[in-house]
Amino acid sequence: MKRQLCVLFLILSIACLACAPSRLGEYRADLEPAAPVSPVGTSAGSVILFIGDGMGPQIVSIAKIYSERSLGADLNMVNLANTGTAGYQTTHAANRLVTDSAASGTALATGEKTNNGVVGMSPGGREFQNIFELAVRHGKAVGVVSTTAVTHATPACFLAHAPSRDMQYEIAEQIAESEATVILGGGYKYFLPPERGRRRDGRDLTAEARQRGFDIAFDSKDLRRSSGDKLLGLFAADHMPYEQARREDEVPSLVDMIGKALEILAADPDGFLLVVEGGRIDHAEHGNDISDAIGDFFAFDAAIGHAMEYQKQDSTLTIVVTADHDTGGPAITATESGYPSYEDLEALAGQDCKFVGWVSGDHTGTMVPVFASGPGAGEFSGVRDNTEIHDGVVTALGL
Ligand SMILES: [Zn+2]
Repeated sequence: MKRQLCVLFLILSIACLACAPSRLGEYRADLEPAAPVSPVGTSAGSVILFIGDGMGPQIVSIAKIYSERSLGADLNMVNLANTGTAGYQTTHAANRLVTDSAASGTALATGEKTNNGVVGMSPGGREFQNIFELAVRHGKAVGVVSTTAVTHATPACFLAHAPSRDMQYEIAEQIAESEATVILGGGYKYFLPPERGRRRDGRDLTAEARQRGFDIAFDSKDLRRSSGDKLLGLFAADHMPYEQARREDEVPSLVDMIGKALEILAADPDGFLLVVEGGRIDHAEHGNDISDAIGDFFAFDAAIGHAMEYQKQDSTLTIVVTADHDTGGPAITATESGYPSYEDLEALAGQDCKFVGWVSGDHTGTMVPVFASGPGAGEFSGVRDNTEIHDGVVTALGL
């Protein structure tokens, strides 16, 4: 499948040299935001926090030049920063110079440092209050959208508390009982008993969530049809497919999911907090696969474009775009034949890109970008720690 995609990409890339934009340009066009829903009209603060998992400054640099030169438009996140603020955040964990997604997710969700692997708790096992719990206490609606399993480290830090990120079956139980009104992503095997899922205790957490008033969605059609005011959508057994392998008729895009999430959350007159994770940029970077990393990056950036359209109708909305850490440290650099040319950029869409070098197949300690716009944007400028991103979101929500 992967090899077929590569061949398709190579053919399309060559064909498109004469008629840019390339296949990635088509993704971008496919993901153009639809007209977003209108908010109910509120003076309460709302926040959409975008987390690109593994989205360090290097992948942003690569995607920006590709977007400008090959697709003829700048990134949505760059346009957002240019009308708002830009900065950096440090990401180190309590016990390590390089963080994993559990420790960094805990910092973003709770404002506290913890050890790698720990979800929403101190290294000693004390539960930290997370920002969803705080926002719900103040009457706001909260939700999560991710392309990973919703039980995976980053979304889990906003929905659950666990001494280990590997406790995904227990995390699923906490998610099914959480106060969030929208939870969209992958991971149904953690919610369903054998036959469809992998729960050894035989529980069907989706049936339990339905009893608590949730609509349940398993594919694009279910998502479109849902008209409930609470929604649990699980669109893959574990993680959702990479954007380049996604089947439009079966699996919703990040834009589809954020559109539905805003439909539900915007109905709350007290405001809302929506966390949107582009979760698989990181996975592609672990494999040093620039093609899938860029494919998922553009899907993430398209979701930011949708949020920016929505923001035009809600002056109380602050949008924050950041990462939990960098992964792989990819950079455009020289090959045997010298520095690459602008024409060489097309190779980014294929599997044979020679001019991107990687420092590792793991996370790095590099600072990551923070872009923000809206009334709370000033909370995010300059160089801050990941725990301060949490504090900024609390302030922007008016809590
Ligand atoms: Zn990772």
